[in-house]
Amino acid sequence: MKIFFLRYDIVSDGNRLTAILSFIGRFVVYLCFNSTHMHKEVIDFDEDIKVIDESKQGDILFYDSNQPGFKKFYIESYGCQMNFSDSEIVASILAEEGYVPTKNMEDASLILVNTCSIREKAEETVRNRLVVYNKAKQDRPGTLIGVLGCMAERLKSKLMDEEKLVDLVVGPDAYRDIPGLLSRAEEGERSINVLLSREETYADISPLRLDSNGIVAFISIMRGCDNMCSFCVVPFTRGRERSRDWHSIVAEADDLFQRGFRDITLLGQNVDSYHWTCPETGNVVDFAQLLEKVALVNPLLRIRFSTSHPKDITDEVLYTMNKYHNICKYIHLPVQSGSNRILQLMNRTYTREWYMERIDTIYRIMPDCAVSSDIIAGFCTESDDDHRDTLEIMKYANFNMSYMFFYSERPGTLAARKFQDDIPLPLKKDRLAEIVELQRQISIKHNQSDIGKVFEVLIEGDSKKSSDYFKGRNSQNKMVVFPKSEVYCPGAYVNIRITNATGATLLGEIIQ
Ligand code: SAM
Ligand code: SF4
Repeated sequence: MKIFFLRYDIVSDGNRLTAILSFIGRFVVYLCFNSTHMHKEVIDFDEDIKVIDESKQGDILFYDSNQPGFKKFYIESYGCQMNFSDSEIVASILAEEGYVPTKNMEDASLILVNTCSIREKAEETVRNRLVVYNKAKQDRPGTLIGVLGCMAERLKSKLMDEEKLVDLVVGPDAYRDIPGLLSRAEEGERSINVLLSREETYADISPLRLDSNGIVAFISIMRGCDNMCSFCVVPFTRGRERSRDWHSIVAEADDLFQRGFRDITLLGQNVDSYHWTCPETGNVVDFAQLLEKVALVNPLLRIRFSTSHPKDITDEVLYTMNKYHNICKYIHLPVQSGSNRILQLMNRTYTREWYMERIDTIYRIMPDCAVSSDIIAGFCTESDDDHRDTLEIMKYANFNMSYMFFYSERPGTLAARKFQDDIPLPLKKDRLAEIVELQRQISIKHNQSDIGKVFEVLIEGDSKKSSDYFKGRNSQNKMVVFPKSEVYCPGAYVNIRITNATGATLLGEIIQ
């Protein structure tokens, strides 16, 4: 296992904050596996081997300002990319109230944590952080502490009972109420709003792009989830699915492009069920149509999206991807399990055969497309045969990458109510280790088959390991590292011939 440290600096404009914004990733721990049979030279350029997507957990957004009159807030974010995007919406709402973000908890009069409930460990991490924030509050009485996001929604007022020093509890659909909740908290009243909404999409709020290198950005296109996967807490913490008006999505993409951004990811728990109905005409825009509208913003703007659900991804989406060069040839299509029995217990509403057909169709329409997955090991009643089915489907789908987890029972979910969490933890971990090892082998093979190929790469910045090298991604979302050339700078597209590869990174050189 290795430990790496990350640093990003960015320049961006904000609503009332028009100075230079910068962001430094807190110490970030990557769980990385040593690839003992790789050349050392290649290992040194591994940019991103992820076992569990822990790379951004606990990142801090901040604004480096000592301007008088500004109150300072400190925010840490946990969980999925949607949560990180939400923190940028919160930052924008707070900016309107005269708050600026700081990276130093000690400077802040408001400490916020945007939380995740997806697995027990995510909640434990937040509880541990609350101990640290409480210490800061004891040192500086008057400091306010707020818990935002999924854990706030799941635990509601219980969180206030359990965590005596928490002043604000705000669910994911109540961020517009933060100013009101803050004024009550400033008067000594502990305040809470965890109301879920059927309409809220924050469409009119321009997020402060804090977590960015100025090239890559995320746009939320929908909120909530109507699928009831039996293991998942998201439908309970983020409410009903609703899609954002496509006009505001295209306007945000256009604005980002004008400001120099070149790679945007459209975000939703299930983007393929994006469905916006025009209130005046009743006309519907679906995800394939939305993709096309965003792709047409500018051919130099790359479009990605996440997450796709195997039951909903349509051929229209695949044909639209194929039609536009700037829609990246990469699909995150979580399979969760390869066993029909387990898929049914998970309420995923597709079979392994359905999933394999979707994979066949993706590769038929776009032979160069990369597919990644989420996989859960040790779901309730999972047998050795079920586990083998998962290993088999991983090989069939030839995932270039996966996020892999062992099952963590979440209170209130269908699985927690209906099934026994009966796979012992050591067995869950053994199965997960086998899945991780298989994925590592598939990823290495996948990347080695790229040696000799030429990819168009968007330069995102310096490689983490050496400022003599640039890093960037190809359309397939693979990280590529290559020696710098003075002719190019971040935001430029370059053609790279791949000369070497690890499971996580391609190494190459610029070709003219
Ligand atoms: N909406 C996406 C989908 O349907 O694939 C994923 C959303 S969830 C935030 C991300 C991943 O966390 C899931 O795909 C699943 O693999 C994992 N996950 C969710 N609940 C889990 C649980 N109770 N235990 C372990 N992993 C879980
Ligand atoms: Fe959770 Fe399933 Fe919705 Fe994804 S689709 S957020 S796994 S309920």
